[in-house]
Amino acid sequence: MTRATDPKAPGSTSDGRAARRAAAGHVLARQPDLRDWQEDLYRTLHQHPELAHQEVQTAAAAAGTLRDAGYDVHDGVGTTGVVGILENGDGPVVLMRADMDGLPMQEETGLPYASTDQRSDEDGRPVPVAHACGHDVHVATLMGAARLLAADRSAWRGTFIPLFQPAEERGTGARAMLDGGLTRMIPKPHVGLAQHVLPYPAGTVGTHAGPFLSTAASMRITVSGRGSHGSMPQLSVDPVVLAASIVMRLQTLVSREIAPDDFAVVTVGRLAAGTKSNIIPDDATLELNIRAFDDATKTKLLEGIRRIVQAECVASGTPQPPAFELYDEYPPTINDASATATVATAFDDYFGTKTFAAGRLSASEDFSLIPGEFAIPYTFWALGGTDAALWHEAEAAGRMARDIPANHSPKFAPAIQPTLEAGTAAIVVASLAWLAR
Ligand code: ZN
Ligand code: ZN
Repeated sequence: MTRATDPKAPGSTSDGRAARRAAAGHVLARQPDLRDWQEDLYRTLHQHPELAHQEVQTAAAAAGTLRDAGYDVHDGVGTTGVVGILENGDGPVVLMRADMDGLPMQEETGLPYASTDQRSDEDGRPVPVAHACGHDVHVATLMGAARLLAADRSAWRGTFIPLFQPAEERGTGARAMLDGGLTRMIPKPHVGLAQHVLPYPAGTVGTHAGPFLSTAASMRITVSGRGSHGSMPQLSVDPVVLAASIVMRLQTLVSREIAPDDFAVVTVGRLAAGTKSNIIPDDATLELNIRAFDDATKTKLLEGIRRIVQAECVASGTPQPPAFELYDEYPPTINDASATATVATAFDDYFGTKTFAAGRLSASEDFSLIPGEFAIPYTFWALGGTDAALWHEAEAAGRMARDIPANHSPKFAPAIQPTLEAGTAAIVVASLAWLAR
């Protein structure tokens, strides 16, 4: 039995690689049998997205499939989370995570299985919903891989733990599952795995060691001024001028305080004040979002924002200090070098030329909180989901940004195949890099 602290996979030697290839071939031989079920499942999930912490039907489908396949299942974990445990003798423990939530936006893909559903958002308002981030791909591929591994237990040993997480889009789902007792429900994994469908050619998989996804946070800032008639500015402390000054001064954080070869983003996405042209309002609200690849840079940005806002308020002579509210915080995703090398080798062996170096991405994810809580290595890989012909055509013409809708676009529409088959195979192949006999 491999020690719980040893992330090294059995496949590091050439014997191990051959054994792992054979095991993957054995398990994936049944993949064609699942094709119709999995495609139907995907279309159903896509057509009926559920918002963060409301993934009731999605979670029920995942839990039902896991129970039918012989897993021990915990559901309702941290609201709607589901985790399955399949013990198959002594050996490593592998956790694979899929996020389940859709987004509050109108789908514009024109697909026959496009979502036309509406649901209530967190404030109870009706909103259109869409699987515009591809979490339906993650759910369908993990359900498929869980079935395949359960159906062929002769090829591997150890424990496989599929985990279906709520509310990635709000950055609260991984935390909620941990707060809901996840660490007491499952054995400590050796490694944590996750994937995300992204606008790369469908059928390909990409790995990246080290910082892969950025850490992020949003901040709501309210600055108080003193309102007055628009014709009498001398009686006011104008929060509009103050807010404008803050927005401009914040631009110097990245350009003047962060080293040119470090990565950082500060975006003021919302600026709100006043009601009418001739009234100076009492206050103004700014909502901004930051990204960085390490916690030190994130802390530097947040401290810099507070310093600039406080100083600008002093400069304006505001009657009250500014108020700050931090929300939608995401940790950085920093892929373990050894675990990533193990998965990359396994992908090379199975996918051949359909692998790529993913590079780091400025998007953010909360998955790393789960392996972080267990203090285990993890790796998160990219799964191509865009029709390969379309992708190569757009790339050759230099029209990628215009022609290929990315995640969170209302037109984001993964090609069902080979995305589902490749995503399912990627989970099986990566898991067997630890679990193969
Ligand atoms: Zn997303
Ligand atoms: Zn996502």
